[in-house]
Formats: sequence, C-alpha cells, structure tokens
Amino acid sequence: SDHQLIYPPHPDQMDWSSLYPDYVVDEAQDQQTPAPEAPPDQLSAPLKPKRISKDVEVADIGCGFGGLLVALGPTMPDKLILGLEIRYSVTQYVEDRIKALRLQNQEAKLYRNVGVLRANTMKFLPNFFRKGQLSKVFICFPDPHFKARKHKQRIVSTTLNSEYAYVLRPGGIVYTITDVPDLHEWMVQHFEAHPSFERVSEEEQEADPCVEIMRTETEEGKKVERHKGQKHVALFRRLEDPAW
Ligand code: SAM
Repeated sequence: SDHQLIYPPHPDQMDWSSLYPDYVVDEAQDQQTPAPEAPPDQLSAPLKPKRISKDVEVADIGCGFGGLLVALGPTMPDKLILGLEIRYSVTQYVEDRIKALRLQNQEAKLYRNVGVLRANTMKFLPNFFRKGQLSKVFICFPDPHFKARKHKQRIVSTTLNSEYAYVLRPGGIVYTITDVPDLHEWMVQHFEAHPSFERVSEEEQEADPCVEIMRTETEEGKKVERHKGQKHVALFRRLEDPAW
C-alpha cells in the first residue's frame, strides 16, 4: 500500500541517479573541496541528491510491463522517459527489462534514457515533477473501473487533470488510448471541460508518430489487437495559462 511508497517531499530532492546513471553529473570535485571558511555544520550536512544532466520530460502513467517505454526510448534518444507503475512486481519486471536491453545494446548506447519508478500517480505526481517539466504524458489503457461508485478511482478526473496540467508545459500533450468506449468518452469529457486543455485535431493526432507506437507497442494494445477490439485514441494539448 501507499505507506511503503517512497516519494520525495519536493522534486528538487528526487535522486534520479540510479534510474539514469549515464546522465549523472560528476560533482565529485565540489564535494572533495568544501570551502575552507564553511562552518562545521555545513561540512557535515547530508549530501544533496546526485544531479543528472537533464530532466525527465516524458511520463507513462501506469506503464504496466513497459512496452511503450522501450518502444519510445530509441525514438527519442535525447529525452528522458519515465514509466510510473503502482504494482511492485511489475515495476521490478520493467526494471529488469530495461537493464537487459541496456546490456544488449551497450555499443549503440540505447535505452539509457528510459527508467521506471514505483509510484501511485494519483497521489504524488507533483512530488516528482516541477511545474511545466513534462512535454508528454501517456495514459494508455488505464483501468476502466466500470461501476459508477468506482469512477473516483479513474486516473482521469477533474482533480487529476489539474495535476497533469501542472506538470505539463504549455504546448505539451496528454496521449490517451482505451478499448472501453465509455472510458474514452469520460476522458474526452473531462479533458475538454478542463480550462487548461484542448483536444488535438484528428489530422494532427494521426500525424504524430507516438500515436502509432501507443496503438501497437503497449502490452494492452497488443492484447486488444489479438481480440480484434477497438482502440479509441484522444490527445489533448496543454494551453497557455490565461493572463490575469
Ligand atoms: N499502460 C500499460 C499498457 O497499455 O499496456 C498498462 C495498462 S494496465 C490495464 C493499467 C496499469 O496501471 C496497471 O499496470 C496498474 O497497475 C497501473 N496503475 C493503476 N493505478 C495506478 C496508479 N494510481 N499509479 C500508478 N500505476 C497505476
């Protein structure tokens, strides 16, 4: 349950170094040579989290077994991509999957920009990301929670959309896909009703290469394909905040 989840009190305190070891900034020099005039309490202060050279920019909410992550990784090699998943064993599986892919592709240096984190995205999103940090958020085949009394557990809601709006920069995109028509309508309604988002046109949607990846590379997308089910896609753009 949530009390076992580790999350930083503030994005600046998040240590990303174990997820993206190849991006760690070498600050060893700074630490070996503290300013001689520094007071003793400053010398013994806990180490700051290791810095990495760029910020996570793409998030996959409820990434499951990581199909989208590993497909996106090589297509955007200059961006850090993070999967967030609440189930412990599934997160472990994705971690191992990424490790193995990094090893197999050592020479090409692939998959170093992909990471996974165990988290409950319904609660702690702004603890991980600063305002406007993300350019893309993927919500692929979220759990439908069919019954009306369970709708509050849906990962798209008025409240959660405000959190997505907070972590996304203006112009950033939320990508959604589901095989459940009722959930598709729910997501469209909630994003269209939110003042920070507008729906992306179908033309622009179909021209975006991420859409095809989302349709074909997610584990759920593959399952729906096998069962010849329908896949409903909708994209939403984060608007500029209105000038007051
Ligand atoms: N996106 C993947 C795909 O398309 O193959 C997985 C879809 S699966 C139906 C939904 C996933 O969301 C599950 O792996 C579930 O554990 C995860 N999930 C549900 N609620 C979550 C939450 N609050 N925070 C993080 N992950 C969550």
